[in-house]
Amino acid sequence: MPASRSLAARALVITERLAGEYPGDAVSLCALEHRDAFQLLCATILSAQTTDERVNMVTPALFARYPTPEDLAAAEPSELEEIIRSTGFFRAKGASLRGMAAALVEHFGSEVPHDMEDLVTLPGVGRKTANVVRSVGFGLPGLPVDTHVRRLSRRLGLTKQDDPVKVESDLCALVPSQEWGALSLRLILHGRKVCVARRPRCGECLLADICPSALPSVPAAAPVSAQRAARAPKRAGAPVKKAAR
Ligand code: SF4
Repeated sequence: MPASRSLAARALVITERLAGEYPGDAVSLCALEHRDAFQLLCATILSAQTTDERVNMVTPALFARYPTPEDLAAAEPSELEEIIRSTGFFRAKGASLRGMAAALVEHFGSEVPHDMEDLVTLPGVGRKTANVVRSVGFGLPGLPVDTHVRRLSRRLGLTKQDDPVKVESDLCALVPSQEWGALSLRLILHGRKVCVARRPRCGECLLADICPSALPSVPAAAPVSAQRAARAPKRAGAPVKKAAR
């Protein structure tokens, strides 16, 4: 890592390279299928502790059965839980969905609010979910910090913090606000594909030359078949080469 490169400049290089590798805006990079901010909010609440693919399997039935906040607020708990059961933690998620929808009806005219202070008052909505809704649902500045974003930010030397709110604050200070949402989604994609938790694939990482955590590349291991051949005892009757004189 060049010593002369400032942290802010390095953050911008990281942002640019990831944008080249994972093109698109926050909407196209988001894997949760939705048509509006209300659907996105429901899908994001359901995405805790499960995959986006699993959420996308249940949301068509969820949105068809409860198309508006009023419908979802009035949902019969056991029927709602049955629809979302496969996403896990279905009782807590069902309660969050109904509570969130009731709060939208009661306090926000059945519309999803834009402001962080309002979003985090909704049941089941923390800062991460609120930032997803702001950046993907409304095109506003918002940098969701999940486990991938936190891990990569620390490995890349963009923060020393562990607390997601402090990680968000550090990243937001380094990167222009219009990049926040897409940067978060690109860090997540890179964290799943290359900078994985257990053993990052630094040898195939486009950030290795500017990453303070890059592992030194190791020579490729000999093919397994060659290793076996080297270890195998010589079979009786096998031709033996004469030693050179
Ligand atoms: S160089 Fe290694 S540790 Fe750094 S971001 Fe890439 S994969 Fe992660």
